[in-house]
Amino acid sequence: PSERLFWGDLHCHTFFGDGLRCPEELCAFARDEAFLDIFALAEHSELLSDRQWEYFVGVMNDFNEPGWFVTLVGFEWTSHRWGHRNLYYPGAQGPLLRCNHPEQGQLECVYETAREHKALVIPHHSANVTMGVDWRLGHDPEVERLVEIHSVWGNSEQSKEAGNPYPIRTLGGERSGQHVIDALRMNRRFGFIGGGDIHDGRPGDELHHLQTLPEAYRLLSRQGIMAVFAPDLSREAIFRALWNRHCYATMNCRVYLEFEVCGKPMGSIFETHGERPMRVYAASEVPIARIEVIRNGEPWAHAEPNQLEVEFKIDDPRAEPAWYYARVTRADGLLTWSSPIWVD
Ligand SMILES: [Zn+2]
Ligand SMILES: [Zn+2]
Repeated sequence: PSERLFWGDLHCHTFFGDGLRCPEELCAFARDEAFLDIFALAEHSELLSDRQWEYFVGVMNDFNEPGWFVTLVGFEWTSHRWGHRNLYYPGAQGPLLRCNHPEQGQLECVYETAREHKALVIPHHSANVTMGVDWRLGHDPEVERLVEIHSVWGNSEQSKEAGNPYPIRTLGGERSGQHVIDALRMNRRFGFIGGGDIHDGRPGDELHHLQTLPEAYRLLSRQGIMAVFAPDLSREAIFRALWNRHCYATMNCRVYLEFEVCGKPMGSIFETHGERPMRVYAASEVPIARIEVIRNGEPWAHAEPNQLEVEFKIDDPRAEPAWYYARVTRADGLLTWSSPIWVD
């Protein structure tokens, strides 16, 4: 095939912020123990000095080895007002922005810097009351192209009432209107990634969700990771694939997933006036209990195959503009989500 699938986690905290272990240990763990192909730290920028940021950038570049292990340079901008955003640069460096800095506290500043550097801005745990994202406060479609739909904090896809088995339960729980599906309904064109947002020093293989102390950790979920389709394992190819939303999210279960509409892969935006054939292909080491296709935010088609490998085909006879994504549920309850496809 012209593309391969790579696994990664772009969201990890360190000893320099509010997590455990130092950048080198985290890179080595992600690569050698969790067997990830792609990795980034996303430390709270507000907790880093300029010197520490330089050191982080150096470590990330040292660990970047095309063909083996790709790292990205990034950080977390931790505004409780505008919502937490992670920013990732396409190349070997970029400036650090802090939300408590007088000139860097506005969301527009994050977008401006991202536009200037062709960087990606990724909101996360959007549904949360304390740390979440009020979608009405701003968006830049050029650089805000992905959303982290799942992490140890839980799942922001949709509300508990709508059927989310892993809603965010800490820090005030969920606020309605802040789910990823609400953003998609506002015509945000977000591809999906899963992330760790881990603080326990074990990116890609966290143990947070098994911890009983501190108290709040009892309410955490299993971490998310992302899968990226790219022609090769280089920083350029991975970044381009992410930019094109050619990626998907899982709850750290390595389900293989393809989703196509009219033969176009996940993340695509295109126009058609003809037939709309759709294909979901999934393979997993644990039986696939359910495959669903969500159309314009509503459950639309599903199958319950209970098999390790499934191909599900369906046509949408309606010709109006629509967006679709696939959700796969394994027999053990773990979820995987394709990035959406938009037919205009
Ligand atoms: Zn955050
Ligand atoms: Zn974080």
